[in-house]
Amino acid sequence: MVVASIPNQPHQFSIPKDNHGKNPEIDFGVKEQECISLVKTCRSMDEFKKVHGKILKLGLFWSSFCASNLLATCALSEWGSMDYACSIFRQMDDPDSFEFNTMIRGYVKDMNSEEAFFTYLEMLEFGVEPDNFTYPPLLKACSILSAFAEGAQIHGQIYKMGFVEDVMVQNSLINVRMDHKTIASWSALIAAHANLGMWKECLRLFSDMNWEGKWRAEESTLVSVLSACTRLGVLDSGRCTHGYLIRNLTGFNVAVQTSLMDMYVRSGSLDKGMSLFLEMGEKKNRKSYSVVISGLATHGHGEEALKVFDEMLERGLKPDDVAYVGVLSACSHAGLVEEGKKYFDRMRIEHRVEPTIQHCGCMVDLMGRAGLIREALEFIKNMKIEPNEVIWRSLLSSCRVHQNVELGELAAENLFKMNTRNAGDYLNLCNIYAQARRWEEMSITRVKMASNGLGQEPGSSSVEVKRKVHKFVSSDTSHSQCDEIYEMLHQMEWQLKFEGYSADTSQVLFDVSEEEKRQRLSSHSQKLAIAFSLINTSEGSPVRIVRNVRMCSDCHTYTKLISTIYEREIIVRDRNIFHHFRDGNCSCKDYW
Ligand SMILES: [Zn+2]
Ligand SMILES: [Zn+2]
Repeated sequence: MVVASIPNQPHQFSIPKDNHGKNPEIDFGVKEQECISLVKTCRSMDEFKKVHGKILKLGLFWSSFCASNLLATCALSEWGSMDYACSIFRQMDDPDSFEFNTMIRGYVKDMNSEEAFFTYLEMLEFGVEPDNFTYPPLLKACSILSAFAEGAQIHGQIYKMGFVEDVMVQNSLINVRMDHKTIASWSALIAAHANLGMWKECLRLFSDMNWEGKWRAEESTLVSVLSACTRLGVLDSGRCTHGYLIRNLTGFNVAVQTSLMDMYVRSGSLDKGMSLFLEMGEKKNRKSYSVVISGLATHGHGEEALKVFDEMLERGLKPDDVAYVGVLSACSHAGLVEEGKKYFDRMRIEHRVEPTIQHCGCMVDLMGRAGLIREALEFIKNMKIEPNEVIWRSLLSSCRVHQNVELGELAAENLFKMNTRNAGDYLNLCNIYAQARRWEEMSITRVKMASNGLGQEPGSSSVEVKRKVHKFVSSDTSHSQCDEIYEMLHQMEWQLKFEGYSADTSQVLFDVSEEEKRQRLSSHSQKLAIAFSLINTSEGSPVRIVRNVRMCSDCHTYTKLISTIYEREIIVRDRNIFHHFRDGNCSCKDYW
């Protein structure tokens, strides 16, 4: 097949392998920066080839960062060349998802869908995991491929080779999609988007389908729609779907019930999820138990999660790896170190579940959170599986919480070696240095982050009010109710002063004046979102916020106090856990 011929393409450059290491006589970092700036200034293939030559001469091609930049510029620029990009790509020792995605995007840009698919296949063959940047260009490639026979042939190959047939086959459905609308094509279309993680599209399609008024969604479609609501954390839309279910179906099957439960639990409504769980009675299966166990864990009810696990065992259901992820994360969130270790052994010995990387992640998290950072490191060293970035990242955050510079540096080093290109890792390290008041190292880390082209993901907080999602960033002034929001913020601060609140400026990452730190803190996105909710929702109703990055400790303290002063329950989804603020306390017990 065609894909096999690609790896043997003749190289346009031959590089002696002994040039492999960097040249010791040049300052690597500085030269690397210069070269990358040069790459960015290229406006034609001629210029580009010269810069490429220079990089080869300096031995910098083996800096994977330099090579990624070269590749992306060559593949994606208007003046670029995919042939040339391919020759660069072929010389990379160990291309990762970023490079594969670049190639796929480049081919799609050139309307060369087939090569895009082959690159995708090759990516799978290499064992490089596709991510959410992989699929959008592939979707586009499907629509470009109008020749159905060729598309089918590709599918045939994918089938034969045993590659994730679902995603690919369903991709093509999008292509043939709406020529003849049937309930089956709607279902397939919605399912395809759900499989690709395109949750917003999924909800939009569902509402289009309903808008046409003549279709009645199948149960499997409703499961996809519920997953979309779950992933997006949009509780109101989830409730509407629940309403739709009640109007259109008589009695739900276990799969629908479990998805409903999952949606409520993961959108922050644990109570509703739990009551559905209880209603299920004898119908509860392994999956429903797993959903509730991990739900209780992420909502900070570790002990209850373990009780539900016991019930599951009593009912004779054999726990699988998913249930154990829930159990171990319950121990981790509740700080139950000894229990966690026991469960880990029980899982392997009694239930014969091989520890996966997720289980190991839970264990590292468990020890790290409890401040047993050395022990966590020992665990990592003894793992049978190669530690992945999640493991090192978990150790890094523990080092931030427990202020351990030495091991924090070690964890960060491992992450940077993996070339994960995650701004959060740099920020965590910065945070560790800032707490230790090591400003110089902090600023070096920030410079490194910027020079790697990584921007700090701006923290944002979203609230859903009347089925509309409002998103705020720090110091946001773009909202139509901006004046009211800042007025509310001002009132809130006034009230907080009476409660003895003073801003915790220790985690502001800049060496700036105290006053400026306070300024920055006071308009963090979460505070704006709370102010907005207090204005726009009725008294006593809960406030639900979804954040993209971890909240700072000042926002945590602030939200606790606001929950008593305004007598509101405030639920914040902070990446993967929920904080329930009520009467001045948080369900995470300040342990996150
Ligand atoms: Zn904050
Ligand atoms: Zn909390």
